Amino acid sequence: MKYFRQSFVLILLFLISCPFTSIAQGYERQRQEMVETQIRNRGIRDAATLRAMRRVPRHLYIPENQQRWAYDDRPLPIGYGQTISQPYIVGYMTEIIKPKKEFRVLEIGTGSGYQAAVLAEIVEHVFTIEIVESLGLRAKEILDQNYSNVSVKIADGYYGWEEYAPFDAIVVTAAAEYIPPPLIEQLKDGGRMIIPVGSPFRVQQLMLVEKKGDRISSRSLMPVRFVPFTSGD
Ligand code: SAH
Repeated sequence: MKYFRQSFVLILLFLISCPFTSIAQGYERQRQEMVETQIRNRGIRDAATLRAMRRVPRHLYIPENQQRWAYDDRPLPIGYGQTISQPYIVGYMTEIIKPKKEFRVLEIGTGSGYQAAVLAEIVEHVFTIEIVESLGLRAKEILDQNYSNVSVKIADGYYGWEEYAPFDAIVVTAAAEYIPPPLIEQLKDGGRMIIPVGSPFRVQQLMLVEKKGDRISSRSLMPVRFVPFTSGD
């Protein structure tokens, strides 16, 4: 009778945990499919970028009521009028900075924390700045649980993070009307910055900025639509 009761409890526990396991497996499968169809098939080939995106559970970085769409081919709302970028854009922006293990990267616009997590899988340290306090704190919580190489600051990213400059790369994930001069200053010689430039709420240009000595070059890569770069002033 005792064994019967024990096995009954075990079977019950198994049955209760089944839906949770299959939801987790569902996300895992969706994530691998996302990387194949949306990222690799569209030409992102950097092995470190693909590996990072296969690993980071994107659904955990977005509000619960949006999680079932986490691996869809589109941006999603994360609250406070902000969005998590489409997976392809995250892959594209990660690959374009040619991320290396020894890099220190500055991100402006922490948002959900997802882009920071993808970078943290690859580089030595990620410094990320968010202007909306509640978003920054929420992202900090999940990033702290998973990474020891990410620092989150609540501030206006226009001014960069001078204390830790210069950076090997800077990733800006909000659309600025022009490239903030402090960010150019805080870019290392030979460094790359990726930034959407243009008017808020319109199509902007994703620009690649490269610094070589005193020479700053920039070129447009593709039209994009990002939430605006706001200022706390
Ligand atoms: N990288 C994010 C994308 C978030 S959307 C992700 O992976 O989810 C852009 C974010 O930039 C928003 O959260 C917005 O609040 C933030 N932002 C806008 N202007 C900013 C500024 N001046 N400094 C820091 N963050 C800013």
